Amino acid sequence: MIEYENLNKVNAALFEKYEDKFSSFLKSGWYILGNDVRTFENEFAQYCNTNHCVGVASGLDALVLALNAFDFEKGSEVIVPSNTYIATILAILNNGLKPVLVEPNIGTYNIDPTKIEEKITNKTKAILVVHLYGKCCEMDAIMDIANQYKLKVVEDAAQAHGAKYKNKITGSFGDFGAFSFYPTKNLGALGDAGAITTNSEELQTIVRSLRNYGSEKKYYNDRIGFNSRLDEIQAGFLSIKLNILNQITDHKRSLAKIYLEELSDAFIKPVVDENYLDVYHIFNVRHQKRDQLKSYLLENDIKTEIHYPVAPHHQKAIKGLFDANYPISEEIHNTTLSLPISYFHSKEDVMRVVETMNKFITC
Ligand SMILES: *Cc1c(COP(=O)(O)O)cnc(C)c1O
Repeated sequence: MIEYENLNKVNAALFEKYEDKFSSFLKSGWYILGNDVRTFENEFAQYCNTNHCVGVASGLDALVLALNAFDFEKGSEVIVPSNTYIATILAILNNGLKPVLVEPNIGTYNIDPTKIEEKITNKTKAILVVHLYGKCCEMDAIMDIANQYKLKVVEDAAQAHGAKYKNKITGSFGDFGAFSFYPTKNLGALGDAGAITTNSEELQTIVRSLRNYGSEKKYYNDRIGFNSRLDEIQAGFLSIKLNILNQITDHKRSLAKIYLEELSDAFIKPVVDENYLDVYHIFNVRHQKRDQLKSYLLENDIKTEIHYPVAPHHQKAIKGLFDANYPISEEIHNTTLSLPISYFHSKEDVMRVVETMNKFITC
């Protein structure tokens, strides 16, 4: 069986380091906001080429706190892609703001900059972009629009640690980058964890306060805050994993290269362009008979996933909020299939997926 994901195998090489870290953490007697959080924040800020990083409890919280920091009037509009993981949209709703969906480009699967301006109104306050699957958005066009209309920019980089556009790294373009370290992400912790990056001293002070009850000084609360601190032990684990993140990314890119070169053109593959350095959190293809393809692969002992089966505007929780149609997003949700591309997969695993898939087109 070729599994889609196996976190035991992903983390196996680090077990000894994790055990040593846990042992010293346990004995330290200091479990919240200590040296390991501070160290990881510095390391990750450096990795993202930003002035600051603030560790928080999850990727969703990173988005929620980032949007909260601007203190927008309730009901203000935030532009967001129509094809994203639900967390991106929940972060807007949880702040009492209104998500305004913009269709993606069918080649990159990321928000189409040419369709943003027509959605801007006098209530629009921010653009929340998502670097989906590990490909950075077209950030120069997006930043131009944001500057022209004086909009804030938040990057949902939960799937794109280390991805680049024109040599600039995700999390360093906008006012904020929001990262998830959910265990399956390219930089995954051993539980929930997230972080916010920013170049602004003022904004970092606000989110640092928001994550800790709105308090900068113990027992003095200046803001209506949250309890959303990055766990000290998760920060310790993350520093260990950050050391091999480029190795993880390189491995995933080498597997992606095999798919890109060897898979039949009957499958629509992700766009490759020299402007992008992709990190392939997910490697997807599209095919009109996606469900049949998924079953066929499973019959051949290959597990795949669908990211995502239901478009956000069709989700029961929020479908009443949107009245327009989003055909490109629906086309993607109906035809996309995510192939095995984890750190533990070998080139042989991927070749077997390729050979099996290439037989699908003749059967
Ligand atoms: C995983 C993910 C999130 C949420 O991260 P959590 O750590 O699970 O809260 C947000 N946005 C995108 C695009 C994601 O993939």
